[in-house]
Parts: sequence; structure tokens; C-alpha cells
Amino acid sequence: MTMRVGNGFDIHRFGDDPDRPLVLAGVVVPGTPGLLGHSDADVVAHAVADALLGSVGLGDIGMLFPDTDDRWRGADSIELLAEVVRRLRADGWRVVNVDCSVIAERPAIAPHREQMRERLAEVVEAPVSVKGRRAEGIGGLGRAEGIACLASVLVERDR
Ligand code: MG
Repeated sequence: MTMRVGNGFDIHRFGDDPDRPLVLAGVVVPGTPGLLGHSDADVVAHAVADALLGSVGLGDIGMLFPDTDDRWRGADSIELLAEVVRRLRADGWRVVNVDCSVIAERPAIAPHREQMRERLAEVVEAPVSVKGRRAEGIGGLGRAEGIACLASVLVERDR
């Protein structure tokens, strides 16, 4: 059985538009400003997509969905992640599991963790774990200037 591991990282800065929603793993999290980005700036979906692409050597989301392309303006990143999963499948791979660490001073991840986990699991069709971590006041993340996410994935050949 051929297996591959992948890792992904993403980081986005908070914006100051109170009407822009914060979207994490496809879940709208109320009470915290949205993140800046060309798409919906879903830092979790982006890190997972990059980990999946990296695992099988299909590049990265910047190559697939360039932010110079107006098609992806305001894009639902869960749709982009679904497209990445389709590409892996077309190449003969299936996802074994996904593990993410969301690094955020705010919002608290725990109240949304289960919903985030379910949303991602539905798209990748595999077990997903989501963990929230704070940056202990260190650097820009510690000053709550934005949110980062680390993702690890395992995939296996299914044919
Ligand atoms: Mg991103």
C-alpha cells in the first residue's frame, strides 16, 4: 500500500470590515472580525488543501487558484478544498486522515471545534481532528493580528 504524508500552513490577518464574516473550516464564527484575503480567507481550509496537494505533489493552492484570477474573488474555500479532493481522487488517492492546529488568540476554537471537524470530514471523507492553540502573546499571532493554521494529512493509493 502506497501512502503519502503532507503538511500545510496558512496565515491571514484580521481585517477591519465589521461586515466581513470570519470563516474557519467552512464555519462562520460570529463575534470576531473576518480575515483579509482574496477568497473568504478560510485559513483552515487553505492549510488542509495545501497539505493534500503537497502529499501527492500536485503543487499548492496558489498555483491552482491564483489570487490574480477574479474567478476566486470571495470564493467559498470549502469549494476549493472539494476541488482539491476531486483532483486527488482523479489521480487515484484517498484521504486517510487530517489533523489541524488552529493558532488563534481569538476566537476560542473549542466551542466551534465539532462543527469545524464535521464540515471538513464531510469534504475530505475521512476522520478529521481540529485543535485550537493560543500563541501565548508571542509575535503577531500572540497580539491577535491574525489566525494561522497547520495541517497534516495522510493519503493512500486506492488503485
Ligand atoms: Mg490562505
